[in-house]
Amino acid sequence: MYLKALEIQGFKSFPDKTVLNFGEDITAIVGPNGSGKSNISDAIRWVMGEQSAKGLRGAKMEDVIFGGTEKRAQVGFAQVTLVIDNTEHIFPTMEESEVAVTRRYYRSGESEYYINRQSVRLKDVTELFMDTGMGKEGYSIIGQGKIDEILSAKSGERREIFEEAAGIAKFRHRKEDAERKLERTEENLVRINDKISELELQVDPLRDQAEKAKKYLILRDELRLLEISLWLENLDALKAGRRKLEADFHAAEAERDQARAALDALYAEGEQYGARMQEKDMEAERLRAQVSQLETQAKEQESAAAVLEGTIAHNRETIQRVSSEMTESDTRAGSLAAQAAEQKEHAAELEGRIAEENTALEALLEKARSAAERADGRQSEAEALRGREAMA
Ligand code: ATP
Repeated sequence: MYLKALEIQGFKSFPDKTVLNFGEDITAIVGPNGSGKSNISDAIRWVMGEQSAKGLRGAKMEDVIFGGTEKRAQVGFAQVTLVIDNTEHIFPTMEESEVAVTRRYYRSGESEYYINRQSVRLKDVTELFMDTGMGKEGYSIIGQGKIDEILSAKSGERREIFEEAAGIAKFRHRKEDAERKLERTEENLVRINDKISELELQVDPLRDQAEKAKKYLILRDELRLLEISLWLENLDALKAGRRKLEADFHAAEAERDQARAALDALYAEGEQYGARMQEKDMEAERLRAQVSQLETQAKEQESAAAVLEGTIAHNRETIQRVSSEMTESDTRAGSLAAQAAEQKEHAAELEGRIAEENTALEALLEKARSAAERADGRQSEAEALRGREAMA
């Protein structure tokens, strides 16, 4: 088998995509301890379907993904592709001259497998490598300490390794499968023989039962015929019943239509009565309002009449009092008239005296006036004399 190339990306110490092209001669990978040489053989074993994290020198499968360094962040998935030459058809099921097997693994735990970029199952990858000498448990990959392991392995495990190398593991597996099937078939055969012996014991009772069953079948057929004729009769009766029911139904429909029309008319009439009732109610309401208004007015008038009656009684009393007062006044008026006549006479007398007094007063006034005029003349004469005296 000729491994043509190995592509590694995000696997262990290979964060970047790294392609190793193997020449036709021997390829040796050399480097100091811890530089990543074994990671390359791990990558080959991993892409061929290795499921044990321990077998890949890790604690869990996620450890195969580049976990980051001080200078680089970790990556999300690891992917390895192994390209194998198939010009000599070492993979008989593959027609292509080159077979590329890819495995991808995400941190989420999701795995993907591809053969020539076609998505496949792990089983397909395992079967592809079976008997090519490249099986993951084969001798083709011999890691550190593997030789010791092979030499100290139990004879069965050693045989497994050599059988895979010789390409007969597939046939051994098939043989084991066939042997298991044969064993199961033999067990089934024993069970079937037991069953046959059991069944043989049941043959006579089963024969009776079969007779009974035959009879039952004949009777069942008869019963079925009878049932059918009974059903046919019932069917005729039912049909006649249905026709009658249909006629009744139509008659009932016509009656229902009439009743509906009558009901509609009654509803219309009812509505008219309702409207009239409403009008009457409104009228009654109006009349009730009028009555209560009239009652209020009557009450008001009654109280006004009571007030008036009181006033009349009071006025009557007043009239009586006034008339008695008037009588009194009349009496007093008589005496007053006499007094007035007396006074009038007295007044006339006084008036005569006043007129006389006035005339005398007038004469006196006249005298006073002329005396004043004379006094004024004497004063101006005195002033003239005082003026002359001052000059002298
Ligand atoms: P030795 O000579 O001891 O066998 P080696 O050259 O084969 O060493 P490997 O064992 O292949 O080296 O590689 C070990 C290196 O791979 C270590 O430096 C380790 O830190 C690194 N390594 C392994 N797994 C991861 C990972 N998931 N992420 C980053 N680096 C990893």
